[in-house]
Amino acid sequence: MASERQIRSASVLIALGGNVGDVRATFGKAIAHICGMAQGTLIARSSDYTTPPWGDEDQDPFINACIEIETSLDPHALLFVLQKVEQKFGRTREKARRWGPRTLDLDMIAYDDVSLRKPDLTLPHPRLFERAFVLVPLAEIAPDRVISGIRVRDGLAGVSTQGIERLPDTG
Ligand code: ADP
Ligand code: MG
Repeated sequence: MASERQIRSASVLIALGGNVGDVRATFGKAIAHICGMAQGTLIARSSDYTTPPWGDEDQDPFINACIEIETSLDPHALLFVLQKVEQKFGRTREKARRWGPRTLDLDMIAYDDVSLRKPDLTLPHPRLFERAFVLVPLAEIAPDRVISGIRVRDGLAGVSTQGIERLPDTG
């Protein structure tokens, strides 16, 4: 198993979501900021998908996407970057109701094959296989990645994708 302190670059899968403002434009800017701040390389970006609100259903539909980056930041340093980028795009974590409306949510889905259970960071993301809105874009860029012992495409086959629609490219 990979250790958290190693220097070589890691493959990291990140899920993006939001349902306030021009979310697709926010994604573009956020990805640029993540790569810049993490000195990372963007390896893959999924399409954007419109997805029904989840958890707290009394809100607008979400837009979701996934990216793969390579970075030599360790998991906690990368979490810090993701939280900085969330803040930059207006998410006020204290005020936000859990699973409520948000301009930008960034979740680390997997960091190489690192397993971590800390108060502020669990890897792989513990709710991945309950979330079609993550699995659909993830399966577009990493169908054969095995996370928590489950191949992404098999995880996707186990959830309902009702109401999830791929958005046309913005060009
Ligand atoms: P969710 O992402 O489940 O919709 P939140 O974004 O509100 O919920 O959760 C944020 C909290 O989750 C943060 O305080 C962060 O420390 C913690 N967290 C734990 N594991 C992860 C992870 N893999 N990626 C991102 N945040 C995580
Ligand atoms: Mg989150």
